[in-house]
Amino acid sequence: MPFRFVNVNGRACLEREEAYFDLERVSDGNVSAEPMIALRNLDALHEISDRLNAETPDGSLQNVILGPPVPRPRNSFGVGLNYRDHAAESAMEVPDTPVVFSKYPSCISGPFDDVELRASRGDYEAELVVVIGRRTRDVTLAESWSHVAGLMAGQDISDRELQMAAKPPHFGLGKSRDTYGPTGPALVSTDSFADPDDLRIQCHINGVLRQDARTSRLIFDVPHLVSYLSAILTLEPGDLIFTGTPSGVGMADGRFLLPGDSIRTTIEGIGQMENMCR
Ligand code: ZN
Repeated sequence: MPFRFVNVNGRACLEREEAYFDLERVSDGNVSAEPMIALRNLDALHEISDRLNAETPDGSLQNVILGPPVPRPRNSFGVGLNYRDHAAESAMEVPDTPVVFSKYPSCISGPFDDVELRASRGDYEAELVVVIGRRTRDVTLAESWSHVAGLMAGQDISDRELQMAAKPPHFGLGKSRDTYGPTGPALVSTDSFADPDDLRIQCHINGVLRQDARTSRLIFDVPHLVSYLSAILTLEPGDLIFTGTPSGVGMADGRFLLPGDSIRTTIEGIGQMENMCR
């Protein structure tokens, strides 16, 4: 049974129709309240989700502010230039090997947290984020999806000035300022999607649609990224992969983020995040 895993006040919960259920409570203590431990227990999450209709919820999502579903990933990867149209608008060549950088885990924030702009060239990048569910080493393309716990929406907020200050650009630091990694609103299990390789992804700035694409347009798709990374290093449960952004970012036409801007990120079947710039 598919599940939607959320972080309510730092505790691991499952969501069903806008209500949340505390995992430690509904599992009689078998699943940890700590999200980083709870998400390692995929079989239990599926099993509990199965019988959630018989449980009494702990509260409504309307009355809480969700945290990042995966608050402290051990590793967090970003992938650059992974849609052709975005590579073109960035005046960069389409890569023949994934362009991977570290989006340092300290930047990870929640689906409704503020983005604290620290520079004049802050930019948005709506992205599909993969959450690894099992220890993963040397997996084939065919095996890759079975190692994924689920998917989230994400924003790879970028400081273009910092990113481009070094030659070649240092993607890692430019995309890892504090609060520059909103994720959520839920970690949605892969069996929730008819086709997890083809999801609509959109970004609105102040209500105006700026990015609109489908993840089927990724140059290196999820199986490719998981397989590729797992051949280099061992992936662990909770590791994140920001899979890259489609065209429409602010850098292309100089429309950078300003204090007071709202960034709304929507992915089909996952939901919506909204982050305000301060
Ligand atoms: Zn990105």
